[in-house]
Amino acid sequence: MTSPAPVVLVFLDPTFPDGRLADASQPQVMVTDQGATRGDGVFETMLAVGGNVRKIQAHLDRLAGSADALDLAIPSQDEWCRAIATALSEHRAQHPPAAGDGDELVVKLVVTRGVEGATAPNCWVQVSPVGAGARRQRETGIDVILLDRGYDSDAAERAPWLLLGAKTLSYAVNMAALRHAHKQGADDVIFISSDGRVLEGPTSTVLLAHVEKADDGTSVKRLITPQLDSGILPGTSQGALFTAAKAAGWELGYGPLEPQDLLDADAVWLISSVRLLAPVNHIDGKQVGTPSVQKELTAELNGLFAGIQ
Ligand code: PLP
Repeated sequence: MTSPAPVVLVFLDPTFPDGRLADASQPQVMVTDQGATRGDGVFETMLAVGGNVRKIQAHLDRLAGSADALDLAIPSQDEWCRAIATALSEHRAQHPPAAGDGDELVVKLVVTRGVEGATAPNCWVQVSPVGAGARRQRETGIDVILLDRGYDSDAAERAPWLLLGAKTLSYAVNMAALRHAHKQGADDVIFISSDGRVLEGPTSTVLLAHVEKADDGTSVKRLITPQLDSGILPGTSQGALFTAAKAAGWELGYGPLEPQDLLDADAVWLISSVRLLAPVNHIDGKQVGTPSVQKELTAELNGLFAGIQ
């Protein structure tokens, strides 16, 4: 086994206003915690650059929304911010950033329902390095396959107990889909609803772009993502990038999208907080868009994303 990445762990604890530092290499959670036994809880995964968490308010708001959907009463955003600051400064003290790593860290917020009968959820922050795979895929792009998600695009509205818009700890299906893709030689997945709509990746949001030349020689660029109410997780990266792209003159659009729309696009990406924009090269073995246009648009959108705090 390779040695685990250095993880700094801070529990939210009412008796420690800035969070309680704990040893991530030692047991810290009961085996009867319902987060472990049932995947009953919520989480967020965020990127810190130079010690600052990107889009922290959007992540904290989404965490609160997910917790609300599961009837979990979580600590205030202020308490989360203090625990995050403790974890980041402890990580910096233990593992000073190395030259060339971009000073990037993954910050994960976890909430579990705790053991049976617990009066408050179990909440912690963990900070760890960004994996090499995520960095590589930003550069090289990815090949994806389309997989059936098994529910229709109205399920979220019809059956709120499915928690489709919440970021719950129950990611076994998402991880199984990724393993399925890896066995087929692909890197990632785009889920399709049973009524044929493009949904999302197992850990990312789908984006596509069209570039049209107007008669006067100028080009109109349009960025499109699936409808947010189709049972997908509203991505904080997609939201922030849309705001930045609009300010830079892009047109924006929200589905519904079908698989053919992905193949007809000039470029497709999977976007998420840590991997950022991963350009999609092939879908089910078919080339997507035009490589030179994809490269140009990826550079432009990466530039816009770099300005997001
Ligand atoms: N959709 C799913 C299912 C995800 O798990 C994630 C992130 O992990 C995303 C979309 C992208 O969300 P964000 O951009 O907030 O990281």
